[in-house]
Amino acid sequence: MLLFKKVADLQKHLHKLRKDGKTIGFAPTMGALHRGHISLIERSKKETDYTVCSIFVNPTQFNDTADLDKYPRTTAQDIQLLAKADNDIIFLPDVKEIYPPDLAVANKYDFGSLATVMEGEFRPGHFDGMAQVVKRLLDIVEPHKLFMGQKDFQQITIVRNMLKQAELPTELVMCDIIREEDGLAMSSRNVRLDPDLRPTATLLHKTLLATKDKVNSNTPSQLIEAAMSDLGKPKGFRPEYFSIVDGITLQHISDFKDTDFAVACTAVWVGDVRLIDNMVLKNN
Ligand code: AMP
Repeated sequence: MLLFKKVADLQKHLHKLRKDGKTIGFAPTMGALHRGHISLIERSKKETDYTVCSIFVNPTQFNDTADLDKYPRTTAQDIQLLAKADNDIIFLPDVKEIYPPDLAVANKYDFGSLATVMEGEFRPGHFDGMAQVVKRLLDIVEPHKLFMGQKDFQQITIVRNMLKQAELPTELVMCDIIREEDGLAMSSRNVRLDPDLRPTATLLHKTLLATKDKVNSNTPSQLIEAAMSDLGKPKGFRPEYFSIVDGITLQHISDFKDTDFAVACTAVWVGDVRLIDNMVLKNN
């Protein structure tokens, strides 16, 4: 496995691979890797010749500096995990490599209402920062395929929109949510969960499953009300939103008949850790 810290060195290497007709898969991450991240690498290895994984905790997508400071950093362990997964290339830039003072890194996309609902409402500026770093990384890596997780459903929807706006040829591949045995969606933030609250953190997944079960006999607003009430019951739990949206437009739906693709998305504070999860309720 090769490790690059400098943009120029990585580009030189990738240029050679591309010239030899090799396809490149790319999985951008913020490190503190777990099996969810590794599933992206595995998928990329199946579908492309060479896989690049970047680890970069992007400061421009944190609206809360305390969250940025507390974000787990486990680089040595991440490198070991990637080696075990047979990843080909790690890109480990510092902030100056991604945002050099002499380079205006584009931040010009307008995602309209895609970026103002759900995460956009509670984390202002988050998606501008996310899109900025993904665009910069795509300009550097120029992958044939980009692998991202359904775990961040709104993020992947916005990236799909950005690829279209930027007219980039990269194919976006959405990878399934990898969960712990008890159903909790894997997340780098899970390690920070209060051990007393951790067993109850399965409630996000349970509530999504219960919602899916009741799709045929309830309206979206009835399901949202029930879910918000359930998620707010345990001590230390504070749901920010539980939304049922069209999976393309991310706008609320009032009747399941109005869409072929309905997704429930939620964000819940569990103690001082903010967890997100989602589930496709209907896709036909
Ligand atoms: P992050 O390091 O949190 O920015 O995540 C990097 C990539 O891994 C994103 O595309 C995420 O959607 C994806 N990811 C994070 N958690 C999971 C998971 N539990 N299952 C699958 N993919 C995930």
